[in-house]
Amino acid sequence: MSLTVAPPVLRSFHSGRSSGRPPRPRVLMTVRSSNTVSAAPILIKLQRDCATPLPVLRHVADAMAADMRAGLEADGRSDLKMILSYVDALPTGNEKGLFYALDLGGTNFRVLRVQLGGKDEHVVATEFEQVSIPQELMSGTSEELFDFIASGLATFAQKEAGKFCLPQGRTRELGFTFSFPVKQTSIDSGILIKWTKGFAVSGTAGKDVVACLNEAMKRQGLNMRVSALVNDTVGTLAGARYWDNDVMVAVILGTGTNACYVERVDAIPKLHGPNSKSGRMIVNTEWGAFSHGLPLTEFDREMDAGSINPGEQIFEKTISGMYLGEIVRRVLLKMAEDARLFGDCVPEKLRMPFSLRTPDICAMQQDSSKDFEVVGSILHDVTGVSPDLITRKIVVDVCDTIAKRGGRLAGAGIVGILQKMEDDSKGLVFGKRTVVAMDGGLYEHYPQYRSYLQDAVTELLGPETSKNIVIEHSKDGSGIGAALLAATNSMYQH
Ligand code: ADP
Ligand code: MG
Repeated sequence: MSLTVAPPVLRSFHSGRSSGRPPRPRVLMTVRSSNTVSAAPILIKLQRDCATPLPVLRHVADAMAADMRAGLEADGRSDLKMILSYVDALPTGNEKGLFYALDLGGTNFRVLRVQLGGKDEHVVATEFEQVSIPQELMSGTSEELFDFIASGLATFAQKEAGKFCLPQGRTRELGFTFSFPVKQTSIDSGILIKWTKGFAVSGTAGKDVVACLNEAMKRQGLNMRVSALVNDTVGTLAGARYWDNDVMVAVILGTGTNACYVERVDAIPKLHGPNSKSGRMIVNTEWGAFSHGLPLTEFDREMDAGSINPGEQIFEKTISGMYLGEIVRRVLLKMAEDARLFGDCVPEKLRMPFSLRTPDICAMQQDSSKDFEVVGSILHDVTGVSPDLITRKIVVDVCDTIAKRGGRLAGAGIVGILQKMEDDSKGLVFGKRTVVAMDGGLYEHYPQYRSYLQDAVTELLGPETSKNIVIEHSKDGSGIGAALLAATNSMYQH
């Protein structure tokens, strides 16, 4: 049966969309009455459950600040691990010489070299290469994996020429970005707690990964040593700080999410041992594990229950790229089952977990064509069904609801960090220009998400204070950041 639906029904579907965009042209269309009429209550309930009005944002920001404090007191006191990085000297721009970086965090590793020329010349030259790690090495022995990496580094180092120049008699120095959980006790050592992300290498857990790499480089006859072990968030902060002295916080929004910031050592009760020369240290919050006061839905709870780490990483599961598409898929599946969104049959493909990816929901939100053609073709790929116009509009509204909640909560988390820093140092954060360096594929490629994040920060801080807080993209800063930290922690004097 077909029915002509008048604009008022359409308008109500758009009530949750962001303001400031021109209204779409009103069109009369032919739709199946059953799906759209009964999908509307599911959408409205979703928008209500995902709503992030100012009091919710404020609660999240306050809880983030409180959890940070608890995590700084002692290990195990908080959802937030507040891992000490032992990075107490940040790049100044004066660094000079040749430095290397290695980034190991997934199925590839990246090697990079940079020639630094100090205040006047800055970055004279950089080069990098990417090497994929053979599957069998990801479940082999520790020695095999580190030998493979060291041999990749040795091959790369052999090609050092042109503007890259190592003074006679010097050992090459390397910043090692290692995105697996480690327990650090100094800037150049860290015990692997466990492998994650598909790695099951035997014989590394409980060992110092810096020693593993240093020994492998020695076996390869490579004259190089690790000067700094960092995680990617810390690398991003260092990379951005090199160009801008006001950078105090770094946030990654990619497949997962994390944040770090510059803390005063006298605000870290759990720090024992050698005092930092600068009186400051970068703290890695591991904020993906935050969980307080988040507006969650049945779809989040079901996704969490079916995940490999139920009950963990709840903030990450609400705001990061790995999950946004999957939450939308779960909503659409319910709409298909309970409201026949895609017609009489529920598309089988829609039942497959993670079949709708965050880049898909992002692409659907960019569709400005009158008939939502891109939305139609993505939905066709994902479900095998060609949905009518009103269905496409509902889907876009679902995407918007989930991206809006994610972006706004990420913004509230950032304000929580800034608030904590401000409370300890009255005026030194909100009273002057302070920069938050952002990186990661989600932040880089999803404009609506980015603007929802900024909106939340502005709403929470108010118009005056938010003028001082600059949230800016620092693309791929983490590789060069690790090399810069190798420079800052060089065994040679500058
Ligand atoms: P990683 O976090 O794995 O180190 P990236 O920072 O490159 O890598 O982020 C990749 C993630 O960014 C993807 O998993 C995806 O969730 C998200 N992403 C990539 N492209 C887009 C896009 N066009 N729109 C929205 N999200 C995207
Ligand atoms: Mg990354």
